[in-house]
Amino acid sequence: MSLDGTYDAGNIFAKILRGEMPAVRVYEDEHVLAFMDVFPQAKGHTLVIPKHSTARNFLEEAPEIVGPLMLGVQRVAKAVRAALKPDGLVITQFNGAPAGQTVYHLHFHIIPRWEGVPLGRHAEGMADMQELKGLAEQISAMIS
Ligand code: AMP
Repeated sequence: MSLDGTYDAGNIFAKILRGEMPAVRVYEDEHVLAFMDVFPQAKGHTLVIPKHSTARNFLEEAPEIVGPLMLGVQRVAKAVRAALKPDGLVITQFNGAPAGQTVYHLHFHIIPRWEGVPLGRHAEGMADMQELKGLAEQISAMIS
């Protein structure tokens, strides 16, 4: 999928938002939902998505949604840091398949990094659900 196209309401994140698919939820407010990435590139890999959006990518997002969305990303990133004490954090977002995008509902990745621990491959290797739930609880407890 290129940068141009039509939003597909059947995408996996839209289904999670509608409660049609499960997710290991971390945080939710009026504007955003955060949940654990099930194919994490690192321990604590968390996704943040806008709730009221039909933007496939960042370029398509309505300006009034960008502000609350980025505040949500920052809030969750701070909680990831507080919970897991990483040495660094990658916050990233892909636009279009050539850039690495695989799900076409706008989302941001928050990926903790530790010195000497290599990054896992993107969207590969499913996580243990119990471990994800434990991480989600730890992060959720640090939301402020
Ligand atoms: P992107 O490649 O930027 O579109 O990222 C999509 C991300 O969604 C990948 O990191 C996947 O591991 C993740 N992902 C796909 N399906 C699910 C799901 N059902 N629950 C949580 N994360 C998912």
